[in-house]
Parts: sequence; structure tokens; C-alpha cells
Amino acid sequence: MKSIIVYSFIVSGLWLTSCQTDQALNEADPSLVVGEDVVYKQLDLDPIRLSSINPMGRIQHESVYNLVLHKAEYITAPGSAQKGTTVIFSDRGNKQLEDDFSPFASLDGSSDISYYLDQTRPSSSISLSQTESALKRVVKTWESVKCSDLGLNRVSNIPIPIGIVAAIFGFPGEPAYVADVNHAGWMPGSFFENLAPGGSRFILGVTFTFLLIDGDRNLVDTNQDGKWDVALREIYYNDNFSWSDDGSAIDVETVALHEMGHGLSQAHFGKGFIKKKGDIQFAPRAVMNAAYSGIQTRISGTDLGGHCSNWANWPNK
Ligand SMILES: [Zn+2]
Repeated sequence: MKSIIVYSFIVSGLWLTSCQTDQALNEADPSLVVGEDVVYKQLDLDPIRLSSINPMGRIQHESVYNLVLHKAEYITAPGSAQKGTTVIFSDRGNKQLEDDFSPFASLDGSSDISYYLDQTRPSSSISLSQTESALKRVVKTWESVKCSDLGLNRVSNIPIPIGIVAAIFGFPGEPAYVADVNHAGWMPGSFFENLAPGGSRFILGVTFTFLLIDGDRNLVDTNQDGKWDVALREIYYNDNFSWSDDGSAIDVETVALHEMGHGLSQAHFGKGFIKKKGDIQFAPRAVMNAAYSGIQTRISGTDLGGHCSNWANWPNK
């Protein structure tokens, strides 16, 4: 798969302009508003044939679909004056950006939402048991939202690193479907340079979305809700930062709660105001804000609204 890592910016102009604007805002006027960017980045990737992925994966039934890497959503560090961005990899000539899981095209054949934590790529600054506890709290927080019944269930551990994106970017990892939402662990800073120049220094975490495609390589919408059907999501955390669960560094539960929100199909939300020291203040403050602004382990009104619009009609309810 390494041979196909040939990529180039399609809309690099947008990216450069926004960076310069950020810098100007940061120095000139701390009260100006910044929105979220969407940038297009062409990775010349072939679709991933389900029949070719690792047998350690957990696909439970025959599927007529294959996968394509569609987008990445990343959250930025405090003090970086960078805001989270959505990177679209596969501009398939359609402006529709929204996507979610479909109960009719689940790769594990279940309408429950499965999740996974890769234990082979722990953070170098926080213990695996602290990470496990934080993720447990995250799952409980999203599951306790009353409008939805996700049937969130954890897939048991396998002893090899997983990750389709990790493999695409040339890192060790078995490209495989393991769960619907895969917390694929902590990666070295260089992993994040694949998303944005300097990304190793300002991206805390990222969620990648793979969509389903049919035999003609078209995206599908099997439940006809106007959103493309998601095959799976992979979440990676940046080991270039220090992490903690006591407020002394980047709070692992806060970022995992945000990434799990993407895992459950939520987009970024809220307008950011860049302050002079490079922090971004959001209005309203929400778990799904595109930059980290301190510990936030409860989901707010806007987070709930976004979640319920995605999940209130899910068949388990
Ligand atoms: Zn995000």
C-alpha cells in the first residue's frame, strides 16, 4: 500500500490563505472570529477491497461493499493558534459532506455500534489503565444520552497494532476492519504531518472516516437518510504531546470524548475566537469545538442536539 502514497494538495491556496489569516488575527485583533476550514487533499488511493483485508479483522458477514478513505477531522492544541480542520481525501465530485452509519450496511452485520481500543500503541505519558478508565467514562457519557440507543459494545483486544490509515502512511499496523469506531492508539508526531504542515506540533487527535462504495465505486446511502454510509472510523492520538487525567497535561478523557463524538458521526461545532496567546475561545463552548480549551467531560446542549439528530431514529431505539 506504500506505493500509492502519492499525494498533492488540490486546494493548497485555501490552506495557505487561512494560515496567513490566522497569524494576522493572532497578532492584530484577538476578538475576530474564525470558522472551520475544509481542505481537499488528493491521496491517490485505490479503494480497499474487503476481501483483501487482514483476516484478524472482525467482519462477520459477506459484504458487497468495499471501502474508501473519505476524510479526517482533527482537533488542535491550546496555544497553537490553529483550529481544527476537516480534510477531504476523496473529492468524488459531490459536495455533500455528511456521512453516518447505516443499519443496513454494517460490516459486522449488527445494528449495535462496536468500538475498540488498540492496546499495542499506548501513550508514552499516561498509563494504559488510565487510558482504559478514561475511555470507559467516555463511552458511558455518550451512551447515557437518552434520545439514542447505540448498543455501544467493545470488541476484545487483539495483540497486533491495527489501522488502515497507519498502513497507508507507512506505519506498522494491520489494515483491517475490527470495529465500527477504532481508537487506534498513540502515534509519533510525524504521523500528523501527513495531515497538515507542522501538524505534529498542533494536532492532538484525529478521526478518519472510511465510506462504503459499491461495485461501480459509487458511495452508497442504503438507509436513504441523505448521508453517505460509513464503513468504519479510525481515531489516532498524538504522542508528541503530554497526556494526563489530572489536569497537568492534555486531558485524555476530554479529547477521547471529542473523538468518540466524531466516531459517532458528529462534526465540529462552534465559532472560535483566537486570543493573543494563541488559545482559541469558542462560543458556545462544546465538546465538538475544533480546538482543545481545557478539561471538558460533560456533553453540552449543542453536542446533545447534534448527537440526537444523528441517532434518535437508530433501530435500537
Ligand atoms: Zn474534531
